[in-house]
Amino acid sequence: RFISLEGGEGVGKSTQARALAAALRAAGREVIETREPGGSPGAEAIRKLLLEGAGDRWAAEAEALLFAAARADHVARTIRPAVARGAWVICDRFLDSSIAYQGGADGLGDEAIRALHAVGSKGLLPDRTLLLALPEAEAMAREAARDAGKSDRFGARDADYHTAVGRTFRRLAEADPARWRIVDATGPAETVTARLLDAIEDVG
Ligand code: C5P
Repeated sequence: RFISLEGGEGVGKSTQARALAAALRAAGREVIETREPGGSPGAEAIRKLLLEGAGDRWAAEAEALLFAAARADHVARTIRPAVARGAWVICDRFLDSSIAYQGGADGLGDEAIRALHAVGSKGLLPDRTLLLALPEAEAMAREAARDAGKSDRFGARDADYHTAVGRTFRRLAEADPARWRIVDATGPAETVTARLLDAIEDVG
């Protein structure tokens, strides 16, 4: 099974990916925890190219291709083999982050990103995508606090950028309710983890 977690910065995705993996392991499943960009040696090398340098280091199109290339390697080397042997893969960000960031906020559009994914990753989609949702004011406050201390080159994005990202995630989730669940990310971490477990109960 393949589960992705999505959402803007500061919604607690990484913490929840870890907690979800731990809960599934406790239930006796083999779990691979992974994240984008990265998740395989080649994709980790691309991650460094993506995160280092100035904010305008890459043309938007080149950046989208690098994300798609990283994802292609991650899918081929890590995700598909794990799913094929019956493991659960918990992935912190996947295709939908590219649709939201490069497609929505950077303006390349959904279809261009989906086309890259069709070629690079043979269109692989998660069995379930969990959107961690915070009220916009809370997300902005958490994002601002985190961006202030951020050293990667994406730290300088403004509030409008993050609003565009959040809007795209919601639109994607609402358009495909069979794959997506929107999960309330407010409250204690353990409460959010319990909501996530409920939201994957029917996955198998
Ligand atoms: O998941 P995390 O927030 O650590 O992601 C690292 C950075 O990469 C973030 O600043 C995120 O906004 C950015 N990113 C992106 N496009 C993606 C995935 C991540 O701009 N497709």
